[in-house]
Amino acid sequence: PVTDQAFVTLCTNNTYCQGALVLGKSLRNHETSRKLVVMITSPVSARMRTILGNVFDEVLEVDTLDSADLVRLSLLKRPELGVTFTKIQCWTLTQYTKCVYMDADTIALRNIDELFDREEFSAAPDSGWPDCFNSGVFVFRPSLETFGRLLQYAEDNGSFDGGDQGLLNSFFSNWATADISKHLPFIYNLSISSIYTYIPAFKQFGSEAKVVHFIGTPKPWSCKYNPQTKWIVEEEALNGHQHLLFFVHWWEIYTSDILPFLT
Ligand code: UDP
Ligand code: MN
Repeated sequence: PVTDQAFVTLCTNNTYCQGALVLGKSLRNHETSRKLVVMITSPVSARMRTILGNVFDEVLEVDTLDSADLVRLSLLKRPELGVTFTKIQCWTLTQYTKCVYMDADTIALRNIDELFDREEFSAAPDSGWPDCFNSGVFVFRPSLETFGRLLQYAEDNGSFDGGDQGLLNSFFSNWATADISKHLPFIYNLSISSIYTYIPAFKQFGSEAKVVHFIGTPKPWSCKYNPQTKWIVEEEALNGHQHLLFFVHWWEIYTSDILPFLT
């Protein structure tokens, strides 16, 4: 095991914890040799913290309002960036030298430990605007210095999309042009919405997917799943067979590996 590197995710409430649990379990099922860390905030219940502790090596509360003075001060000026400030606190995890951040609405389909061969800041293109990266999966190096610079940047400039993705794209603004090794292949952050926008590409490359990202709505945990038919109870927003298989896969892990903890 590599103890100075970790996968990091975030959940600010019990609902997103369901995603974090499935993500953590998916990384374990594919035998990652890295530590698993989940950052939480105060609304996450005591019971959920215990359950997270069954899957993650570290369950760390990062309180956007009280933990770091720097965060509190920045939030006073930019109250709209609440969840963003929570996410960028991943740079404060200096007990690790290198980390891979993953949104709670992602899932690993294979072992992805090779991502640790990449350097800060590596991420995959966003399917909506490919000159921007998607901030649902990225490789970074914890550093209080970088954290401070990110906060200052947020305070001075805000975020062009109101979230962490806008902030991080402005901050790491040479990502698109400087170093191709920092462009993660799209199979490390396959956004579910891109499948039906380019079906031939999905048919050609989709089987190589390593990480699926349930970007937008609905999230897997807000879908209805029928355990008898082992299929999603379809909604209009969810048409398209390929698409649904990933939701079913999420639910399979949730039903077999997570529900037993919850009941
Ligand atoms: N998140 C959270 N609580 C929230 C909203 C977001 O913990 O209420 C975290 C969670 O890790 C989530 C990430 O922030 O995956 C980014 O939000 P989301 O995935 O919903 O955005 P999208 O990928 O759909 O743009
Ligand atoms: Mn996401």
